[in-house]
Amino acid sequence: MTLPIIYIDAELPSMPRSSRTTQPFWQALAEGRFLLQQCKGCGSLRFPPGAICQSCPESKAQWIDVCGKGTLYALTTIHAGPPPLMRDGPYTRAIVDLDEGVRLIAEWHGDPETPFDTAVELIVSRYNNGCLFGARSVPSK
Ligand SMILES: [Zn+2]
Repeated sequence: MTLPIIYIDAELPSMPRSSRTTQPFWQALAEGRFLLQQCKGCGSLRFPPGAICQSCPESKAQWIDVCGKGTLYALTTIHAGPPPLMRDGPYTRAIVDLDEGVRLIAEWHGDPETPFDTAVELIVSRYNNGCLFGARSVPSK
């Protein structure tokens, strides 16, 4: 499943850290896919990527593609922070519950007054120097 991609003509103020554990996630995101890790021991899904399961002692995991659909759990707008992050003024982050049952934080691309439980989708935010993931309300058809 390929996520919608939006292009942002700006530089990321800070690059996400990539490690041996997280590199497959960032590679897939650059290709428009969003991956979760699934524990090979108990089958639980996790995000962010990590070296061990949070539910059992298993360290082996496989990557699975998600559909990128979910619901909005909460929004918060940040008004103060380090200068690089405040370059464009206040910014909003969303807490999203994916349909797969994983909760995560994402850039919010939409009205900061969007009601909770709104149907949302993940998107790829492609900056001039890298990618992040974000969320927005599911566009009406
Ligand atoms: Zn496990």
